[in-house]
Parts: sequence; structure tokens; C-alpha cells
Amino acid sequence: MLVVWYSLFVDVQRWIADSLLAFVLLPIRSPLLATGLVVAAVVAAAARLPVARPALTRFLNVAGAALMLLPLSALVEGFWHDRKPLALEWPLPPLPAAAPGTTRPDVYLVILDKYTGPGSLRQNYGFDDEPFLRALEARGFVVPRHARSNYTLTHLSLSSMLNWEYLPGGPTDSTHVDAALPVSYARIETNRTAELLRKAGYQYVLMPSGYAATASSRRADRMLADGESRESELERTWRTRSLLAPLDSILAPFHSKLSPDELDRCHTVGVLCRLIGRRLSLHSPASIAGGFDLVAGVAPDSGPKFVFAHFTVPHDPYLFEADCSHRRYVLRMPGWPHPERGRDEELMKAAYTAQVQCVNRMVLALVDSLDRHSRTRPVIMLQSDHGNGRIGAAYLPMDRLEPDRVAERFDVFAAYRFPGAAAVVHDSIAPINAIPAMLNAVLGTAIPTRPDRRYWATWHAPFRLVPVE
Ligand SMILES: [Zn+2]
Repeated sequence: MLVVWYSLFVDVQRWIADSLLAFVLLPIRSPLLATGLVVAAVVAAAARLPVARPALTRFLNVAGAALMLLPLSALVEGFWHDRKPLALEWPLPPLPAAAPGTTRPDVYLVILDKYTGPGSLRQNYGFDDEPFLRALEARGFVVPRHARSNYTLTHLSLSSMLNWEYLPGGPTDSTHVDAALPVSYARIETNRTAELLRKAGYQYVLMPSGYAATASSRRADRMLADGESRESELERTWRTRSLLAPLDSILAPFHSKLSPDELDRCHTVGVLCRLIGRRLSLHSPASIAGGFDLVAGVAPDSGPKFVFAHFTVPHDPYLFEADCSHRRYVLRMPGWPHPERGRDEELMKAAYTAQVQCVNRMVLALVDSLDRHSRTRPVIMLQSDHGNGRIGAAYLPMDRLEPDRVAERFDVFAAYRFPGAAAVVHDSIAPINAIPAMLNAVLGTAIPTRPDRRYWATWHAPFRLVPVE
């Protein structure tokens, strides 16, 4: 039973919630209702089983033991992988020596996940992002208005931009996502940008995110989060895939409404409270806002530093109102296979633009704080990995989505501040060229510009890369 709950439960529950949504048109999917239905069905089935049958018990015991043994090889492989030193995949370009007496600036690379560019925000959401973009320009940023991402999925976009390379793969590559993710994650963990900056004497500081590929790094010299907010793979799987998932979503809103004092008391007395708090930590509004503060806090430390922070906002779950107060209900994009449509789309658009406005506030506060507390004016790269696209978690093939959704998925927010940026950042620059342009300016390297190309990918076969005009 335990094994069935583990990993299958959430799929069954979502399927029920989604079917009910389709037929009953529930205004909001109810995890409680779906959970109740699943539990009732299982209890009813169990009640019909004849009890005290030794043969059946023996069979279930053997089957149970076999199921416990099956993951052993994966476990062993996982432990081995964790200890294996990472091979550097990328040759580094020649690094000119810095002129004596020069102080290299700190470099902040801030990824804002799923932050759509201003054109699509205006056209598809009726939202004007110009005041924010102009506020960045007033702080010395160059802000392209038509920046385009090279890829449409986080792990592809990050592994390409950090290594200044297009990815292998193509329209006929059928690598399954389970095999593709470790490849992408390795390319993100050992990436050329961090390696080159380390070689130039930078300390690599990572702000861990709630996204697996940037949750930790064995290459980082320093990680900013405290141990409290980490979550192991096992904990995460139980939280997101088992019967704990609905419990989590029911308790989470109460937890996130507690004041720091109440939280303290709750954590001292309640194991459940502590567990929920720990699980929530990386995606809770408090921890995301706290992440911005942690990054701001490193400014006075001795440098030069390369600070890499991947913030999982304005990506859903939608946690923040426009003024950064916490939403009463956390909203997530619709699951497979539903793009955002109808009432869902309107709800999501409103929640998304509110979260964008909160992110804008946090970004401006971060930039101002870094500028105030840094010894030398820092280099800051603000970069989205892909636009929204209102595609839910569907990641359908391109030809099954309207052209404006496809275009929106490539339309990204970007703002860069580094010496000479105005001369090299063009209006439709892609991340694959933006980071090298910054490195050339800061380190004196001569990394060449790449042709501007874009690829669509679906979740299940992420290396089946389809070129887009
Ligand atoms: Zn992303």
C-alpha cells in the first residue's frame, strides 16, 4: 500500500481533479475532494478483500520485498554519482592577464524564471512593464526590448546560456527526459561561465534555488542558504508524489500566514509544523524574498565574486500579490495536458502579472542594495530563461499551440549592466551571446558571437530540438 501511495498517488489525484474540472466545472480544483475520492475508493476495495488468507499474505510479502529491492541499484548509482568528481566538459578560452592594479568588479547573474518580455506582456496581458525597465535604465542598465531565449525549457536554456553553446540534439533525437535531465544538470553544475570566472580569481557563490539543477553545486566555493531550508530528494519525492502532497497543500497556507514569532513557537512544539516549514522553505514566499536578501547581503564581502542566483519567480506557484504581500491561495499552472485556457487563463494571467510586479520591486531593491554596499560598482546580469507562453505544464509540440503562445515562450525579459554594454547589446540579443559579451568586457576574453537561433522542445523528449524561424 505504502509503495502504491508513494509516487502514484498524485497522478491519480490530479487525474480525478482534472476530470472533475472538465465535467463539473469546479471553480477551483479541490485537492481535498480528489483525495477523499481516492481514499474512499481504496478503502472500499480493501474492505472487499477476504482476510486471513495465508497464501495472499505470503504473496504480498514477497511482492513487497521485491518492490523494496528494485530501487537498490538506482540508490547505489546515486551514491556513486554524488561522490564522483565532475569532469569538465568545456574547453575554456584564453584568459588575458589583468593589468596590475585593476580591481575586477563582482559579477551577479540573476535568473528570473519565466519572466516574459515587455512586448508579449503588453500584447497578451495588457500589462505595461516600461516603468520598471526605465527604472533599470536609470540605474545604468541596458534593456533590450525584444530579447529572445534560445530554448523554451529551463534546463536547456540554462545549460546553453552558461556554456555559450547550442546543445547537441535535433528533430530526430528521442532521448527521454529521465536520461536528458542528468546531462543538462551536469552542464549547469559544471558550467563554463563559473569555471572561467574561477580561473580568473573569482569566488563562485551560489544562491540555491528550489529547482533541482540549481539547488546545489559541488563546484561552488560557497552556498548562501542555511541547512534548514534544504530538502533531500527523498523528502521532495514524498512531499510532491505521495499522500503527503494534499496534506502539504492544505497546511501550507496556514504555515505561510504565521508571523515569525508564531513560526518560532510552532517549530519548537510541533514536529509536523517543522516538517511542513522545512518542505515549504525553498518555495515559500518568505524564502524567495529571503533569497533576494541573502544575495544583497554578500555585497560587502571581499571579492571578486561571481554570484549566481536562480530565482523561481515570476514562475508559478503564484505566491505574491503585486505589492509583495502573500497571496491567500497559492495558484499553480494547470497540469498536463492542459494549456491555460478560458477562466484558467484569466486567473493565471492576473496572478502572473501580480507576481511580475512583486519581482520588479524585489529586483530594484536588490540592485539598490548591491550598489550601496559594493566597493566597486558591480556587474549585474538580469536574465529570464524563457517566457511564459500560457502553455501550462503541457509543453505540447509547437504545432499544437497558437503562434502567439509560441512567440511568448521565446520572448524574455533581460537587463544587463557591464562596462560597454550599450555598444554590444542589441535589441533582440539572446542569452547565448549576452553572457559572453559581459565576460569579454570584464575579463578581456574574445569569445565570439554566435548566430541567433531558437529551438522548441517538449518536456518528455527535451533534446528533440525543433528549429523555429
Ligand atoms: Zn524556467
